[in-house]
Amino acid sequence: MLVATHMAAAAALYRLSSVRSLPRPARWGAMPAVLALCFASHFALDAIPHRELQMPGNTMLGLLVIAYLLYIAWRDGDILLLAAGFLGALPDVMWVLDVSSSFNQFHSSLHFNGVRVPFYILFVELAGLLALTVIIHLKSGLRREC
Ligand SMILES: [Zn+2]
Repeated sequence: MLVATHMAAAAALYRLSSVRSLPRPARWGAMPAVLALCFASHFALDAIPHRELQMPGNTMLGLLVIAYLLYIAWRDGDILLLAAGFLGALPDVMWVLDVSSSFNQFHSSLHFNGVRVPFYILFVELAGLLALTVIIHLKSGLRREC
């Protein structure tokens, strides 16, 4: 799965959680669970049948999403949005850096490893990535005053 998709999905999960709208003690109590969910989302996405993109394309899309998340974090004063996106990508970063062979084994065991999927699946993923960026853009995570 694209690293861009992992980052956008984790950031969208964080935004959809509305954890930012909770009163301060509850917010800091719930935040670790939400960020853990952002990390765990990586494995759920990897389990979905998908096409892999080579490193240059994957990196380019990843950098675009990082720039987008930086903009939204700046716009909304929400640094934890960046943490959520980072946590969504962290398992692949750990794999690239070969941090732990047992972690890599765990990561691989949860990764889709089936038959070759059609090429158009990549476009389905890109459409999903676009939808995630819209969710991130529209969902501030703050309670609206009525
Ligand atoms: Zn992965």
